Amino acid sequence: MSLSEQMAASLKADSLVVAAGRPPREHDQPVNPPLVLSSTFYGTGPLADGDRGYGRYSNPTWDPFEEALGQLEGSELPGLLYASGLAAVSSALSLVPAGGVLVMPSHSYAGSLVMATELHEKGFLQLRTVDIADTNAVLAALAPADDAPAAMLWLESPTNPMLGIADITVLAAAAHDVGATVVTDNTFSTPLVQQPLALGSDVVLHSVTKYLAGHSDVVLGALVTSNPELRAALLHHRIIHGGIAGPFEAWLALRGLRTLALRVERSQASAAELARRLQDHPLVESIRYPGLPSDPGHTRARAQMKGFGAIVCIQVAPVAGLDGAAAADALVSAVDLWLPATSLGGVESLIERRRRHVAEPTSVPANLVRLSVGIENVEDLWADLEQAFTALSR
Ligand SMILES: *Cc1c(COP(=O)(O)O)cnc(C)c1O
Repeated sequence: MSLSEQMAASLKADSLVVAAGRPPREHDQPVNPPLVLSSTFYGTGPLADGDRGYGRYSNPTWDPFEEALGQLEGSELPGLLYASGLAAVSSALSLVPAGGVLVMPSHSYAGSLVMATELHEKGFLQLRTVDIADTNAVLAALAPADDAPAAMLWLESPTNPMLGIADITVLAAAAHDVGATVVTDNTFSTPLVQQPLALGSDVVLHSVTKYLAGHSDVVLGALVTSNPELRAALLHHRIIHGGIAGPFEAWLALRGLRTLALRVERSQASAAELARRLQDHPLVESIRYPGLPSDPGHTRARAQMKGFGAIVCIQVAPVAGLDGAAAADALVSAVDLWLPATSLGGVESLIERRRRHVAEPTSVPANLVRLSVGIENVEDLWADLEQAFTALSR
């Protein structure tokens, strides 16, 4: 690619999302990487290291996105694209040795928790879940007096959907003290808001489906590490287990990445404004948004994030004969501009009562509604929420 390592290191992140992963500047060649649809590549004789060979080993359309994401997360190594966020979770969990202890937030993304629980039930690893915002509880889980120390610490911060904030620096250092590998799911923050490698994490995970691609039109995942051995192990896992990205999805993800800085800036600002207004609404029983000074994670989030993200969670108060969960369902059914749908991180604002999913932990309140703030005008977003709340109380 054309962007030198030196140049990549000197650019601000909002330039990097535009400039990274471009083809070489050759006369009359395209300024965007081409979409390469080929399952195999010419070759004779033994395959050398780095040869493309076959479409499950590599694809030229993955390279620009992987290079850009590596640079954005502050790694000298390119990232690794996967078929989905959960394919990336599966690859990252393969780093836990057989029977090893995995410490994971009790409010991790539900799919990550289901996967870890199933691996635990089959005896492939030992799962210990813990409140990730409770630093002392995590330290105890990493190195209990009467049990094996952790082999992997899984971090997600903020957590989906409880928005718990982990002290990444302190926990990563403690995990390294017991020899554990640290993986951080950075989906909610994006590399523009939080850089887990710089905070001590060994591997960063993204559901590229969300902010990085940003248009609710692809499902993809990614991992980034600056450790060459870990990267080689993850790449081997991707090749052998086959959770690879489609070239078209990779191409769309790079196209989406170009506007990441603008999208994140706009949706964060709107989320902060909506959170300020929602906290005073009579039908909002409680609210979580790390940007609110009253939020339990505020101080910690301020210290390790450059912003607070664009996800706001509210618990809806019972109203007009409806319990909280029914009121939450009614709210989600009453919006016009917001899209009632799962997922997050797209240009369009999405709203969902999380417990509609059976896999969601029952410790997530039944009346919890997750708002993924998009890039529409904030006054239109507010007006739509207000009319939906008003429809509820009628
Ligand atoms: C959506 C999500 C995932 C899973 O990603 P998919 O692309 O849906 O497989 C993992 N972690 C978090 C925090 C997510 O929001």
